[in-house]
Amino acid sequence: MINTPHLLAGAAIGSEIHNPWIVAIAAIISHFILDSVPHAEYNIDGVKDGKIDKRFIKDFVKILLDLFFGLTLIVLFAYKSPYFNYIIEGALFGIFPDFLLFITYIFPLKLLKTIAEFHYKIHWFLGKKISGNILVMSQVIFSAVFILLLIEH
Ligand SMILES: [Zn+2]
Repeated sequence: MINTPHLLAGAAIGSEIHNPWIVAIAAIISHFILDSVPHAEYNIDGVKDGKIDKRFIKDFVKILLDLFFGLTLIVLFAYKSPYFNYIIEGALFGIFPDFLLFITYIFPLKLLKTIAEFHYKIHWFLGKKISGNILVMSQVIFSAVFILLLIEH
């Protein structure tokens, strides 16, 4: 999924669980669970195997906007929460696997590549015929549910 639902999932976990270790682990697990739900993804074509081309700037802007949007939602909905630090921690661990993927593009180390392979395999639905509406709606619905969980506190 794109960054926003991952950030919101981690934030919702941080609002429910108040142990930093469990928040980190649960947020990382949430990432892989969400990635197994059929969803649309934007392309990151500007960087492959350590080589960066001019499309990288466009990709980078998309990622930054997505991060900014997700974090803004979290701050808007949870800034008053007494668990705000756990919420932010959860949000950051919620996107950690994609951060690792990004690092793997630039530094294709063996361990990182193994993790990336697992990360790709989670996307079992890729190449299958699934309606574009479902691929977009899945992210909207999950995001809405996580926001509800977040504002519940
Ligand atoms: Zn991912």
